[in-house]
Amino acid sequence: MRKVLVLEDESSIRSFIVINLRRAGYDVIEAETGEAALERLKEHPDTRVALLDIMLPGIDGFEVCRRIRATNARIGIIMLTARSQEMDKVTGLMTGADDYVTKPFSPAELTARVDALYRRSGGEDLAHSGEIRQPPFLMNTRNRTLEKNGERIKLTQVEYSIMRFFMENPGKALSREEILDRVWGQDYFGDLKIVDVNIRRLRLKIEDNVQTPNYITTVWGYGYKWGF
Ligand code: CA
Repeated sequence: MRKVLVLEDESSIRSFIVINLRRAGYDVIEAETGEAALERLKEHPDTRVALLDIMLPGIDGFEVCRRIRATNARIGIIMLTARSQEMDKVTGLMTGADDYVTKPFSPAELTARVDALYRRSGGEDLAHSGEIRQPPFLMNTRNRTLEKNGERIKLTQVEYSIMRFFMENPGKALSREEILDRVWGQDYFGDLKIVDVNIRRLRLKIEDNVQTPNYITTVWGYGYKWGF
């Protein structure tokens, strides 16, 4: 199930959010206080996105965000801010939030933000579909295949593993060390150049123009990013 946590103390706003997210196909978990939200997340560790109101009785939304991030890097976090709280956006992002939505918001806006973050926090439910769809690319994780515009791209196992790592982390800069650890394993004592070599080969296969790569972009002095 596509689990989302909603932390909001005002019940009218909370039900508005909950109803709209349920309508969009999410399994919504509700909390009225920060303390309750942290408890509920422990009960539902597979929650993929959390919406956190800031002004709450007890610990505030920033503190909740900080505490979630201390143990969970993967979950997507959206802060719900009031228009009068311009500074909160910065503070929220500093405490580890991924995005913020300013009240009052429309159902469409809210759902769009949650959808985007849900995808970013780990792609569609792999167990159910076995597919990661990021047009023009489509990865099938069961047959370990990749298509671009409906055409199969032949990949080596290493190239496939790199692509999967990228597609599970769209928009995120991945260091060469991270790629090496994930693809070759942590006990591999190879040179980081092997990452660059494989990326160069991957680009030849997937980019429209290798001279100006659009999909795998270089993050200078760090690594690479799957740029969506
Ligand atoms: Ca509130």
